[in-house]
Amino acid sequence: FNNQLQRSEKVEMISELAASVAHEVRNPLQVTRGFLQLLSGRSRTGEQEYLDLALTELDRAAGIITDFLTFAKPELGKDSLLQIAEEFKLIEGILAPLANLRGGRISVDVPEDLVIRGNSSKFKQAFINIIKNSIEALDKEGRVHICSYRDENKVYIHVQDNGEGMEEEVLARLGEPYFSNKTKGTGLGLMVTFRIIEAMGGSIHFSSKKGVGTAALVMLPAASD
Ligand code: ADP
Ligand code: MG
Repeated sequence: FNNQLQRSEKVEMISELAASVAHEVRNPLQVTRGFLQLLSGRSRTGEQEYLDLALTELDRAAGIITDFLTFAKPELGKDSLLQIAEEFKLIEGILAPLANLRGGRISVDVPEDLVIRGNSSKFKQAFINIIKNSIEALDKEGRVHICSYRDENKVYIHVQDNGEGMEEEVLARLGEPYFSNKTKGTGLGLMVTFRIIEAMGGSIHFSSKKGVGTAALVMLPAASD
C-alpha cells in the first residue's frame, strides 16, 4: 500500500511538471508562429514551402499541448465537489466562439443540482476534447447539444452533434493514440478524455451515423449527498 501511495504521488508530480512545462512552452510557440507568418508574407520563391512546413509542425506541437493540457494547471491538481452546471458554463464560454466561427451553436441544458467528485481542470479537459471534435465535425446549421441528468447514484452527460458523423471503422478506433482523420489533428484528444473519465470511475460510449451526427454518453458516479 505504501509503495502504491508513493507511486501515485510520483505520477502526480510528473503530471504537474508536464503541465507547467506545457504552459511555459505555449507562449514562445505563439511568438514563433507570429514571426513565421510575417516572413511567410514576404518570402522568395522556394522559401514558401519551408515556411509552410515550419508552420504546420508548429501547429502540431501546439495541438499536442492543447489536447493534453489546456487546463491541467499544477495548483489545481486536487479533487473536489464539482457542480456540473458551473463547469459547463466555463466550457461553453471557451468553446462557443469556436462554434460561432464555424456558423454553429452550442446549447447546454444541465440542472444546477448535479454534483460529482473530481478534478475541475481534468473534467473540463475531458469535455473540451469531446465538444471540440463535435464543433470540428459541424457543417451548415451546426448544433452541439449538451444535457445531463441523474439516475440513482450515477450522473449521465450527453454530448450530441449533427455533424458529419463516423463510419463503424472510425467509431471502433476512437481513443487510440494518434488516430486522427484531420490534416492538423493530433489524435490525442479522445485518448486523454478516455483516460480522465476512466480515472474518475466513469465510462464513455460513442454512437454515430455517417451524415447524421454523433452522440457521446458519459456516465460518472454521483457525489453522495
Ligand atoms: P483529433 O481531433 O486530433 O483528430 P481525437 O482523438 O480528438 O483526435 O479524435 C479522433 C478522430 O475521431 C477524429 O479525427 C475524427 O475522425 C473522429 N471523431 C471524434 N469525434 C467526432 C465527432 N463528434 N464527429 C465526427 N468525427 C469524430
Ligand atoms: Mg480532437
